[in-house]
Amino acid sequence: MTPMVLLDVDGVLNPSRRSSLAWRRYTGIVDGEPYKILLDPRHGPQLLTMARECGAELVWATTWEEQANDEISPRIGLPRLPVIPIGDYLSSSGGEHFKTGSVAAYVRRRPFVWFDDMLDAADQEYLSSHPGVGDFLLIHVDPRFGLTDTHLAQAREWLSRLPSADQAQRADRVAAHDREDRWS
Ligand SMILES: [Mg+2]
Repeated sequence: MTPMVLLDVDGVLNPSRRSSLAWRRYTGIVDGEPYKILLDPRHGPQLLTMARECGAELVWATTWEEQANDEISPRIGLPRLPVIPIGDYLSSSGGEHFKTGSVAAYVRRRPFVWFDDMLDAADQEYLSSHPGVGDFLLIHVDPRFGLTDTHLAQAREWLSRLPSADQAQRADRVAAHDREDRWS
């Protein structure tokens, strides 16, 4: 099970403030309208390197959906990424963010790190008790400044501590063996 790194756009890759000269302003087209975007072109290479070194897959988790591949990816050097469909849910039952149900339905027990600016304890709670959700780490990003080196380091640290696929398979075999022992 390849771990995933879930990416939000607004407040994460597109913050509200330009905190260094590295950030560049663009005008994209979102839902047919011009939309101001502030991007740090270093983010694409940083995310790709992290994904490669940690054996993870980058995935969009944003209401931009496929438009993130058109308007964000090419400007920061990312390839087209898989997109979590958000529009199907757009509702929230217990105070969790409206995207959280879509994420829970998508992950199918694959471990994931999620960079977002709108998540809180209700999302942690919702995901922890959802049967289709395995290990995960929510990383809260300040929407004024967007994704920083600290967030990337937190994600790397968490991903590096996941059991590797080999270890996970070994653990499954041991658990199956223990179950057989118990019933024999
Ligand atoms: Mg956001």
